[in-house]
Amino acid sequence: MLPVIALVGRPNVGKSTLYNRLTKTRDAIVADFAGLTRDRHYGDGKVGPRPYIVVDTGGFEPQRPEGVVSHMASQAELAIEEADAVIFIVDARTGVTPQDHRIAQTLRESGRKIYLAVNKAEGLSAIAGSEFYELGLGVEPFMVSAAHGQGIASLMETVLSPFPEDEEEEKPAEEEEGEHRIRVAIAGRPNVGKSTLVNALLGEERVIAFDMPGTTRDAINIDFEYDGHPFTLVDTAGLRKKGRVFEAIEKFSIVKTLQAIADSNVVVLVIDARSGVAEHDAHIAEYALDSGRALVVAVNKWDGMSAYDRSQLDQQLDMKLRFLHWAKFVHISALKHNGLNHLMKAVQEAYQAAIAKLPTPKLTRALIEAVERQQPPRAGKVRPKMRYAHQGGTNPPVIVIHGNSLQQIGDSYRRYLESWFRDKFNLAGTPLKIEFRTGR
Ligand code: GDP
Ligand code: GDP
Repeated sequence: MLPVIALVGRPNVGKSTLYNRLTKTRDAIVADFAGLTRDRHYGDGKVGPRPYIVVDTGGFEPQRPEGVVSHMASQAELAIEEADAVIFIVDARTGVTPQDHRIAQTLRESGRKIYLAVNKAEGLSAIAGSEFYELGLGVEPFMVSAAHGQGIASLMETVLSPFPEDEEEEKPAEEEEGEHRIRVAIAGRPNVGKSTLVNALLGEERVIAFDMPGTTRDAINIDFEYDGHPFTLVDTAGLRKKGRVFEAIEKFSIVKTLQAIADSNVVVLVIDARSGVAEHDAHIAEYALDSGRALVVAVNKWDGMSAYDRSQLDQQLDMKLRFLHWAKFVHISALKHNGLNHLMKAVQEAYQAAIAKLPTPKLTRALIEAVERQQPPRAGKVRPKMRYAHQGGTNPPVIVIHGNSLQQIGDSYRRYLESWFRDKFNLAGTPLKIEFRTGR
């Protein structure tokens, strides 16, 4: 599971600046899940071989006029609770403030691993950091400049060193008697019917293995069979076993959702047909897309809806989730156990597409056909020339195209190629990446 790093500090110390720097390595990750978490931002990044999720706790402490010991915003509290490590940011220019002391105390009580980053330290000597020892955290301050990128690498290397390196290969599904055990994450905002779906899937079929978590912070993964096919349900947005069934834990956790998505092969995004498509639905879908996971959209609570409401909803889905045109949409009723076969079939198909083997000769032939049908536009005097293609990865499939002047190829031609390859190789249900490699 990806480690979660929380950025904590009073306003204006440079949290957002650091957050932007830490999520810069990969662009357009989760923006913010507006509404649910007005004041938190989630993103992911990677330093060296180590990937992580970073949370900007934003409004850690409401700005109060005077020294009432204010309660932490519960959102920030949850972020700290969920974090594997906390970077406490202070401002080298202003020195220690009473608010820093209050935050330090809260952090000490949290029992989390704390790192102290003394920000805005460009041009200052390490001496400037020594006054922050009085915060009593018992750690060495790191002198950093979020704005200028100084000291960040060494800070992050230290913060991340206890956590595992990224497996270079894409996460292969476990081989089981010739058939892959597909790792499925069920994601969606509260009340869309995730636990009902999980119970419906598990209730009918055999649960093979179940790891009871040692603590609430551990993930539960459940192996089960559906219609004779093996799946693993990866811990999803904090579903917990209560008695004989699974229920959503009280607090919806974006971090858990992000970790489950990262840990899966296929994401099932559950949408509530009764309440329509919300912004959070789109955000979760964007994250699944950015992380390259195959995706099935389960439009739940389809039971008892009028034909009119159904067609309204489908139009809304078309419009608001247009960027998921490649994904499979399945209408289900988790409550009435309708559509579950279709859903699980769609999961398998999406997975097959995600791990499809695309042989170089076939890819190259498809590429040549695509170019014959439509050449890439000239860029000034040069016309990009594509020569051959090979597969650079799976889940998601990566198609690497070799040739000359390929840096000139624009987005619209890239999209053309993407949909061409999608059609040719039947890649519905999975994101697809196209990379260009130019010889000269
Ligand atoms: P936040 O409220 O903690 O999220 O703080 P911001 O990231 O919005 O930064 C507050 C101000 O500090 C902004 O004007 C930043 O440009 C500035 N700032 C952030 N990092 C640095 C730094 O490393 N050096 C200096 N000199 N200014 C910084
Ligand atoms: P979660 O928070 O996403 O896990 O949502 P739950 O599974 O707890 O479901 C929230 C509510 O929606 C419960 O009252 C369920 O009974 C109801 N619900 C779930 N699936 C369906 C469905 O397919 N049809 C209808 N009508 N209600 C459903």
